[in-house]
Amino acid sequence: MMKITVFGTGYVGTVTGTCFADLGNSVLCMDIDAKKIARLKSGDAIIYEPGLKDLLTRNLAAGRLDFTDDPQRAVEFGDICFVCVGTPPRANGEADLSYVQSVARTIGTHMRGYKLVVNKSTVPVGTYDLVRRAIREAQHNDVKGAPFDVISNPEFLREGAAVRDFQNPDRIVVGTDSERAKDLMSKLYGPITRVSRPILFTTIPSAELIKYASNAMLATRISFMNEISHLCEAVGADIGDVAKGMGLDTRIGNRFLQSGCGYGGSCFPKDVKALAQVLEQHGLTSTLLQAVDHINERQKRSVVLKLKKYLPSLEGKTIALWGLAFKPRTDDVREAPAVTVIEMLKREYANVRAFDPEAVENARRIFGDQVYFAKDAYDALAGADALLILTEWDEFREPDFGRMKELLKQPVVIDGRNIFNPEDVRAAGFTYSGVGR
Ligand code: NAD
Repeated sequence: MMKITVFGTGYVGTVTGTCFADLGNSVLCMDIDAKKIARLKSGDAIIYEPGLKDLLTRNLAAGRLDFTDDPQRAVEFGDICFVCVGTPPRANGEADLSYVQSVARTIGTHMRGYKLVVNKSTVPVGTYDLVRRAIREAQHNDVKGAPFDVISNPEFLREGAAVRDFQNPDRIVVGTDSERAKDLMSKLYGPITRVSRPILFTTIPSAELIKYASNAMLATRISFMNEISHLCEAVGADIGDVAKGMGLDTRIGNRFLQSGCGYGGSCFPKDVKALAQVLEQHGLTSTLLQAVDHINERQKRSVVLKLKKYLPSLEGKTIALWGLAFKPRTDDVREAPAVTVIEMLKREYANVRAFDPEAVENARRIFGDQVYFAKDAYDALAGADALLILTEWDEFREPDFGRMKELLKQPVVIDGRNIFNPEDVRAAGFTYSGVGR
């Protein structure tokens, strides 16, 4: 059993804290948002993440997990302090490290004995040094020089599968220059390491870079396929077949070859931009990453451009949206294609009726009453001139086409996630447009 403090109770912090508690550790999670803390303490997971609510309830009840907004209590509690706060993009794409620095100062201010500070937030190379300095500067005279280590342990969990990813990670990466830290992390992660899944220990800069480079590679695959999808449309090829044929090559592999209406979320868009910034800061070129980002922005907009082929003027038209979350099984709408699409539709004075199984509340915070948030998928269709599909939730995959046709004013379907078989939809009497097919 280890004593752990987790700073930041967002997607990463809540999942990390709860899962470490479930392994038998004693965990205290701290956030500056007192309202969030009160809800978490009462067993409300706040975010939608499969399996999280059960784990939270179980570990709160077992007394292994607690939440606080008291920074002093938080620092005094854990021997290991995980930093899981946000690193959002600044206007120029650079990562905003002010939340990470703020946690570092909190730790420096209140620490009395040794602390292992583990950075899980996604940060540019060299951030560990910034954190070290911030801790040292904040240490009081009476404990000046008290020992601590700062290490990097990037997080790879995927929203929508975060608990499963924590319990069965593809890899655990730890960047450290301290033997003491290495021992502690080996013990902490021992229960979830396997012979085929050891901890990869690296230098700190390598660990920091592994995270950015991994996300940028995945985003690059998506933008690459989206680029090819336009060519498929131009020459009459099918992006699904192209992806299958490519994926059978073991050097390429079949994952992350889907094209669609663009990637979103709190990671890919921000990490691609931030890595481009890091390259530039080192006098290097970021041509590829700029293109990846550019293609993605274009891809989000392409759904509306397709719609305008059928409805050249959107003024006064009603458009139904299926999907608001940036991907299925999450309620997260940060940088979701749906956000860009709604902004474009509203700029052209269209009415929007939207449905998502989990993300309505988060979308309502952005759009308020500018959007009608439907009770269910069919309610979104009532009187609409077209349907846009923006998130591939399973519950959208096998709809009642007859009922859809009755509800829609015009049977136009723009499938931004290629969830339907074009022949089936057309046979049911719809005008259908997918991506790259
Ligand atoms: P989030 O925005 O959901 O949560 C961040 C939390 O930190 C908020 O609750 C905020 O109130 C809190 N916070 C801010 N300042 C604080 C402080 N000084 N002390 C304590 N709490 C503070 O963020 P997230 O999605 O969990 O991401 C956190 C980090 O992990 C980011 O760097 C992100 O890039 C990275 N990451 C995210 C994911 C993901 O899927 N969301 C996956 C891997 C890595």
